[in-house]
Amino acid sequence: MTETDVQLYQKRVPIYPRSVKGRFRRLKWGILTLAYGVYFLLPWLPWDRVAGPQQAVSFDIHGRRFYLFDLTVHAQDIFWLAGFLVIGAFLLFFVTGIAGRVFCGYFCFQTLWTDVYILIERLVQGERPARIRLDKQPWGGGKLLKKGTTHLLWLLVAFLTGLSFTLYWGYAPELFTGFFTGQAPFPAYATTLFLTATTYVMAGLAREQVCTYMCPYARFQGAMFDRDTLIVAYDEARGEGSAGRHKVAKGLKTREERQTQGVGDCIDCGYCVQVCPTGIDIRNGMQYQCISCALCIDACDTIMDSMEWPRGLIKYTSDKAQHGEKTRLLKGKTIGYGVILLSAATALIVSMLNQVPLDISVSQVRQPLYVRLSDGRIQNSYEIKLNNKADLSYEVRLDVSGLGGAELDLGQLEHIVLHPDQRLQLFVKVRMRPHANQPEKKDFYFVVEPVGAGDIPQVKWPSVFYHPDD
Ligand code: SF4
Ligand code: SF4
Repeated sequence: MTETDVQLYQKRVPIYPRSVKGRFRRLKWGILTLAYGVYFLLPWLPWDRVAGPQQAVSFDIHGRRFYLFDLTVHAQDIFWLAGFLVIGAFLLFFVTGIAGRVFCGYFCFQTLWTDVYILIERLVQGERPARIRLDKQPWGGGKLLKKGTTHLLWLLVAFLTGLSFTLYWGYAPELFTGFFTGQAPFPAYATTLFLTATTYVMAGLAREQVCTYMCPYARFQGAMFDRDTLIVAYDEARGEGSAGRHKVAKGLKTREERQTQGVGDCIDCGYCVQVCPTGIDIRNGMQYQCISCALCIDACDTIMDSMEWPRGLIKYTSDKAQHGEKTRLLKGKTIGYGVILLSAATALIVSMLNQVPLDISVSQVRQPLYVRLSDGRIQNSYEIKLNNKADLSYEVRLDVSGLGGAELDLGQLEHIVLHPDQRLQLFVKVRMRPHANQPEKKDFYFVVEPVGAGDIPQVKWPSVFYHPDD
């Protein structure tokens, strides 16, 4: 091939996946129903909360808080997000090392939404042969109606997907009404439009191209595979025999007849190829386009059952098992991933359970570090941030400890009251008269004492008082 022959663009070959029944298809429908149920209904689940929206899950961008059932995640808890990401990454490494691309085949948004789009296509346009015929047909009223209905239903699903995502970022009942009366904020419309468009393009138009060309995970997941990893594979020895595969024909009907002539169990019906959402032939060996959805297993099992031959011509197996060796699902690498995963999950849960209800942080004003007052006393200034993460209002008393004779000046503030989820910023001054031989800097604590706040404990924050060197 000369340099000018190199093709950088390959025209998409349309794929018309045939429907299939079987245990993996049932499992996939089950996961899909659960995922859709959670995604579409969760914003509507009411939740009793003193402060914040009465909605189980809500992401409050303005208040910089995320509400997840009884857990309120504040901006300061951002390290939890890092914990979630670490857990997600190692869960992916762990599962992929053992079971290959199960995430792609069963849980990925792209797979779940494409499955629904294919279902719509089938309900409107018919089974695979009818869809192929329709595409070859010239444009006319019937074709326009079927294609138009399919695209309208796709757009409806895409719009519901986009709108549901938006409802997580506000109080769903209000945002929903506001959306249709033109009262919703601009980002709500922009987000819904963006997700509607991307869902429609990804699940309706691009489909397997997303897995094949766009998804980064599809590119690097091969690095997590080894010879023990479960993959969907065709049993070549059984399917091909010594004389290859052959359709059912005279003298090649029973297994005994076929085996006598060296013909394998594959009757070359092509069902496994027709059901494949990425349009590959698993009988050609492992291919990077395979998302491990196991629909070809269901297809081949159906054929084997109808022939009354044993199932398993296509099955989940490992490279080692294919070569007669023992598969070891748990080994050093996977156990290592598992240990990191468990440790990260435990650390995250412990951190969440021990979330402090009253947060304090203190920073010293350094310009100037200290001021000498006309009466000879020394004054240092501090910026204090208090964050009430509890669901109740209470008063707090602020004091200093470890700085004998010091006076705390709260300015105009007489009472400090913290309401649920309130953040307060205070500027305070600490003054003291210098003693002979006083060190240049003295460590002390700010003490915050909640009053009438049940079992919310006192909080101490270390700080330093600076003093001129004279
Ligand atoms: S080859 Fe089988 S498992 Fe792989 S994507 Fe196609 S149908 Fe799914
Ligand atoms: S479904 Fe089974 S029998 Fe039919 S072509 Fe595929 S592997 Fe062969």
